[in-house]
Amino acid sequence: MIIAVAEISQETCSFSSIKAELKDFHENFFCQGDEISCLPSDSGVLGGFIAEIRGRGHEVKGAIATQATSSGCLTDETFYSLKNSLLEGIAKIEPFDVIFISLHGAMMAETIFDTEGDILVAVRGQIGTDRLIAVSLDHHANITPLMVDNSDVIVAFEDQPHELTAAGRKTARVMADLIDCGNLSKSVLVKVPMLAPQDNFLTGGGPMKQWFDLAREIENDEDVLVVSTFPTQPWLDVPNNGWGCLVYASSQSKAQFCAEQLADKVWPLRQEFWKSQRVSISEAIYDANEEKEKLVILSDSGDAVYGGASGDNVSILSEMLKSDLNGSALVPVVDSEVVVKAFDAGIDQQITVKLGGKMCAEFCESVELTVVVKALQPAGEFKIKNRGVTSIGRTALLEIGPVKIAVLETRDAFINHPGLYESLGLDISRAKMVVLKTGSNFQFFNKWPSRLIRVDSPGATQSELRDFNWKNLTHPMYPWDKISDWRQK
Ligand SMILES: [Zn+2]
Repeated sequence: MIIAVAEISQETCSFSSIKAELKDFHENFFCQGDEISCLPSDSGVLGGFIAEIRGRGHEVKGAIATQATSSGCLTDETFYSLKNSLLEGIAKIEPFDVIFISLHGAMMAETIFDTEGDILVAVRGQIGTDRLIAVSLDHHANITPLMVDNSDVIVAFEDQPHELTAAGRKTARVMADLIDCGNLSKSVLVKVPMLAPQDNFLTGGGPMKQWFDLAREIENDEDVLVVSTFPTQPWLDVPNNGWGCLVYASSQSKAQFCAEQLADKVWPLRQEFWKSQRVSISEAIYDANEEKEKLVILSDSGDAVYGGASGDNVSILSEMLKSDLNGSALVPVVDSEVVVKAFDAGIDQQITVKLGGKMCAEFCESVELTVVVKALQPAGEFKIKNRGVTSIGRTALLEIGPVKIAVLETRDAFINHPGLYESLGLDISRAKMVVLKTGSNFQFFNKWPSRLIRVDSPGATQSELRDFNWKNLTHPMYPWDKISDWRQK
């Protein structure tokens, strides 16, 4: 068979002030045609999908594929432009038999809450109802009936941190099974009226593991095609938000039974998802300073760049500068103005800057510092395992006493990777603590014995969700409202 392949992916954080524009997609990742079909097998969802489906003897034709770093919503103009490019890209590669589309599931435009549903309606309208549409979604998606009704099968990621190539391979296997065995296509989506912060989002343990393990167990049933659990990311202010359970099976009743089984499993765990080990900024720095052996990872939960926050929140840095640190601290900050200033000054020069607090002004003030420029790196590309190659902007290393600040020109995925510091000449093993702008992706630092401290920092991805000014949140919703049964409407 000829399989068309496409991707539009961005995760929206409604509380982030940074809008995603067309250039954010083009500069981050954009390819079309043969560039897609030639992607290496370890290159994210698409790479995994293409390798697996080709291994089964199918031919691949690329339409368009693009991703942007998580941020606030897309401008409407950006969304319509991407959607048109997708539809044109698909028309250009006709004829094909089946289409695979990689989407995020929590992407929003200024006036369109369910962009993925909108895309799938348009693709279905263009290619008709005879051809199969298979979709891959991040499990942090806000899954909607519109998405389910306008595709044949949706497969969500199984792991957090996300194993992207594995997710692509799984979708290819499911798609191949559906082609061979069309009777496993009855779907039921059950929504559970709850949201939870990111503190317990890792699938390797805790309540999330219990829920995801049940999904894998249900998938062993031969009458079930695929099961997806959606712990929706908690910063998406859209109507009909909430967690989801999606099952494809041999009959409607079977799919309904399994989806309800998953909802019944997660509902009694809802309080567990709100428990947290996070501590105040000052307590976190005190504890990190006391640590004698391990590298301390300070998770800047309010400024998670992978969740859409700006990356220029300097709340933790400001507190560090007031503390008497026993060892060196590595801190990343996104600030293009300061990078320009550092490049203009040159290495070993002293500069006074107002750092951070610009994009995230509503959550944190800039900090004024006199620092020494210790290293400068030009823009380039960086390969992250199983995620593919990503473009990175210029970076500068600024030093003030034991604090080493890696300043990034752009909001790159590189921000949570040790390569950021290594490329600036630093040895991670000599650091006492490192700030990561994520609540879940600590895996890149696994090679150093480390201790995680979750910091209760303010920002667009903060864990105290009830402090946000929600405009569209659907009620009843746990924990905002008192709900005894997830079936309650
Ligand atoms: Zn995700």
